[in-house]
Amino acid sequence: MDKNLLSEADILIVGAGFYGATLAERISTQLGRRVLVIDRRRHIGGNAFTEQDPATGVEIHRYGPHLFHTSNEEVWNYLRTFTGFTTYRHRGFSTYRDKVYPLPINLATICQFFGKRLSPDEARGMITGQAAELGDRPPANLEEKAISLVGRPLYEAFIKGYTAKQWQTDPRELPAQIIARLPVRYTFEDGYFTDRFQGQPVDGYTAIFERMLAHELIETRLGVDFFDIKPLLPKDLPVVYTGPIDRYFDYSEGELGWRTIDIDLEVMDTPDHQGTAIMNYADEAVPYTRVVEFRHFNPERQHKSDKTLIGREYSRFAGRSDEPYYPIDTRRDQAVYGRYLERAAAEKNLHLGGRLGTYRYLDMHQAIGAALKAFETVLGPYFAGKLDSVSRSL
Ligand code: FAD
Ligand code: UDP
Repeated sequence: MDKNLLSEADILIVGAGFYGATLAERISTQLGRRVLVIDRRRHIGGNAFTEQDPATGVEIHRYGPHLFHTSNEEVWNYLRTFTGFTTYRHRGFSTYRDKVYPLPINLATICQFFGKRLSPDEARGMITGQAAELGDRPPANLEEKAISLVGRPLYEAFIKGYTAKQWQTDPRELPAQIIARLPVRYTFEDGYFTDRFQGQPVDGYTAIFERMLAHELIETRLGVDFFDIKPLLPKDLPVVYTGPIDRYFDYSEGELGWRTIDIDLEVMDTPDHQGTAIMNYADEAVPYTRVVEFRHFNPERQHKSDKTLIGREYSRFAGRSDEPYYPIDTRRDQAVYGRYLERAAAEKNLHLGGRLGTYRYLDMHQAIGAALKAFETVLGPYFAGKLDSVSRSL
């Protein structure tokens, strides 16, 4: 890479995902500073990258299905300056022992599963009775959290097998908050998310990034790995790093556990394979966790092809050369992460951010929200001369 690009830049941003792109956009447009963005992939957008599948014309989400939802009005308004949103509302389903149930677990799921008509109070009373096996203790892990929310029968049907496939880690070793992403409802409300603002970007996710990075003060270089150019960095150049934190420190404190997903794509000879965008498979004997049919994310589009594209998702432990998707976050991981944080605090030109940089599962709106906050509280004050470090207080 041209050395001049580095010496002319006011800041280097490693990673063109939502965290990096939001900061690049803010720093260039609001502060008039020069930003150099690099990504080791050959495209922008990070894990939210989408592109058109040549065989079917369907927009494919390369790193797994992405659904935008938020209740954060600031993030919603910010993102809407780069894209319109469709009226898409996600509905989830799970197949268990050859029957299809609505997800997240709601009154319809409960009535269907137990084969009874139950009122909200009756259902709640039944589940509370089942959850009583835990006693008064607060749930300490994923299994206990799930049982406290849905009781053992529903846990064993819809959560245990799926979680075993997704994490291949004892559910008693997994943190309770993973399951907090899967709400339970005592109504027939079957929308997957309850957020105030939901939809899919009208022209796909990649177009958002093209617009965010279009400013004349932003230079974007793709196919560039940070560690290849690290020796060339000018001494005081601030760096926003959104790659894996353990990689940054050359794994010196140990490796952090991640799950990755292999997506097995197949073009099916029918315009509609499963009638919905995502079908989960709860049975442990079915090797994949879910099947995604991408065209259903954009029902507003006229797809000319009479074929459809599906992806079967298989989850496994991520090695160093795999794409890290989900932080496993066991107690050991938390201890390792803590040690990296201590080391990061000593580097005043280093700002760690995003999903990989902070070892946290972040939804898109959370990554954008965190970047907007970092701009306000760290990067803005730094460029105004009010802070002498870009490292963030975590
Ligand atoms: P990323 O998008 O991961 O971007 C980091 C970038 O840094 C990458 O492009 C990477 O190539 C680059 N990088 C790393 N190391 C280096 C290096 N050494 N040199 C140069 N570049 C480097 N969120 C939702 O809101 N809704 C969803 O439905 C949803 N579904 C998801 C499904 C899956 C399977 C996954 C994995 C995530 C999903 N997410 C979803 C989360 C969403 O992907 C993240 O919130 C978002 O990608 C976070 O942005 P980021 O910038 O932190 O990280
Ligand atoms: N989960 C489950 N059964 C399902 C869907 C999810 O047990 O049918 C659990 C599982 O542990 C999973 C977590 O809930 O890791 C979060 O699932 P979600 O689908 O929200 O996350 P995603 O995989 O889409 O990020």
